[in-house]
Amino acid sequence: MTGLGDILRKQIAATGPMTLAQYMSACLLHPEHGYYTTQDAFGVDGDFTTAPEISQMFGEVIGLCLAQAWLDQGAPDRFALVELGPGRGTLIADVMRATLQVPGFHTAADLHLIEASDRMRRLQAAALPAHQPVWHNTAETLPEDVPVYAIANEFFDALPIRQFQRDAKGWREIMVGLGADGALHRGLSDAAPIEALDYRLDDTSPGALIETCAHATAVVDALARRIAVQRGMALILDYGGWRSDGDTFQAVRAHTPVDPFADPGRADLTAHVDFEALARAALIAGCAASQLTHQGVFLERLGITPRAQSLAKGQSGPALDAHIAAHRRLTHPDEMGSLFKVLGLYPSSESPPPGLDP
Ligand code: SAH
Repeated sequence: MTGLGDILRKQIAATGPMTLAQYMSACLLHPEHGYYTTQDAFGVDGDFTTAPEISQMFGEVIGLCLAQAWLDQGAPDRFALVELGPGRGTLIADVMRATLQVPGFHTAADLHLIEASDRMRRLQAAALPAHQPVWHNTAETLPEDVPVYAIANEFFDALPIRQFQRDAKGWREIMVGLGADGALHRGLSDAAPIEALDYRLDDTSPGALIETCAHATAVVDALARRIAVQRGMALILDYGGWRSDGDTFQAVRAHTPVDPFADPGRADLTAHVDFEALARAALIAGCAASQLTHQGVFLERLGITPRAQSLAKGQSGPALDAHIAAHRRLTHPDEMGSLFKVLGLYPSSESPPPGLDP
């Protein structure tokens, strides 16, 4: 076990079982041993590959979507261009390159990055040598006086979730405790009356498991409150679905699923995003939410195929094969095309961002 395993076992021995959210936060963001503070996670040599790391086309078409939304809203002369969880900075670097040709866009944009890990912030600075981003720990400190155009790709799946299991009367929470052998394992709390889950009593039966992510709804609230008043929009891309149903907590290391409790801090921990919960939070904050759209459909509507064809012209042999495979991987329903979804947030008086339906 790593140092973090010892720390967590001691903590549980002293103060009792912890929620899955506490466990996930410690594993991902512990200042000394957290996954995002210590590992170089992304790419073919890392633990997982995200869409912008597969091909530059992803960031390019998203950049054009952001720029078109900005034009559609009258090209405000100052705005915050925001990315949540930028990883290595590849997506935002591609967005900046693709929007260079859009007159006025760069002059009007102030770049804001929400990133908890100092290590990741250094990678992002290196990917953006011509820009001076402002970093934030949370969406709460984003500007309150200019429109906000935001993107989040594979950010929400990294936020800590809690799990609840239905019994005959209500809910019990899944907790992380210590087994007789002293190892970390999952157990059930005593009855946990959670008012916010009452609405799920109607569509679940005893034995059902659901997940909640208070951190995600707080982030959406901060974005949606700004978008409702200051205008702008947000694009949330991630794997998940409409309404949490079942256990989606998973650990991945070197592209392979592993036991999430075996080696805390050494594997990427994620859960599927409950887009219904995000859309509800946006509506409560006075903002509109688009229909949930498959990533493949969204990218096709934004013109990824003509872009792929134009990039293919300069290529041949293995490079061309890899390029064709990347296009397929991003868009095909058997690959990322339908597992990944897109939700847009936008002012209720405006149209949804390009590629999305109201
Ligand atoms: N969007 C990138 C990387 C996704 S990985 C891509 O598509 O490649 C998740 C990113 O979110 C990492 O940069 C990680 O350090 C950051 N992150 C994770 N949890 C966070 C939190 N609670 N607050 C801020 N940033 C967080």
